[in-house]
Amino acid sequence: MALVASKLAPTQASYREVIESGLGHSRRIARGEILRIVDLEGNQAVDTLFYNADDASERYSATDTIVAQQNLYLTTGTRLLSSEGNVLLTIVADTCGRHDTLGGACAAESNQVRYALDKRHMHSCRDSFLLELALHRPHMSKRDLTSNINFFMNVPVTPEGALRFADGISAAGRYVELRAEMDVLVLISNCPQLNNPCNAYDPTPIELLLFSAGVA
Ligand SMILES: [Zn+2]
Repeated sequence: MALVASKLAPTQASYREVIESGLGHSRRIARGEILRIVDLEGNQAVDTLFYNADDASERYSATDTIVAQQNLYLTTGTRLLSSEGNVLLTIVADTCGRHDTLGGACAAESNQVRYALDKRHMHSCRDSFLLELALHRPHMSKRDLTSNINFFMNVPVTPEGALRFADGISAAGRYVELRAEMDVLVLISNCPQLNNPCNAYDPTPIELLLFSAGVA
């Protein structure tokens, strides 16, 4: 897998913020702006949803994206397609090399199925998404939570067609960069998962940087 570094320096960013694990975030990104997500300490999962900023009924579609690029994994050059077949964003740099869009976001239900019944109460990505919507996007609801991307997560598909939550291939400081091809809304859950060995049972902070259109 080819790793592609960005030409943009962090000092050129118009916005920077560290997001602690377990927290959500949402933000409007204008067409042409570039969002960088940095895996600060390595092997963190960043559960992410994208929408048309002006119409949340048009949202990221994992199936359309996979079919269009004939690849199950996301990396530099991947165009993230919407449920209407439009390009929401393009991955323009990636120093990790592979991102998952099949594994879904952790939830109370999946915590019980994957780990143990008594994990039901533990905070999940779905909780962070719902909290973020309730606080900042009240026009949206759980009906708007569909297939998502797990940046920095390694979920290989076996020859039998099963999913495996494998050890991560990311590392401290690796990042992915996405250029918005239309005005989009991004909804992020920096995964709070404490039961999965893929993050060494230790979710960690990420950093978001935003670069204005034309800064490159
Ligand atoms: Zn999660």
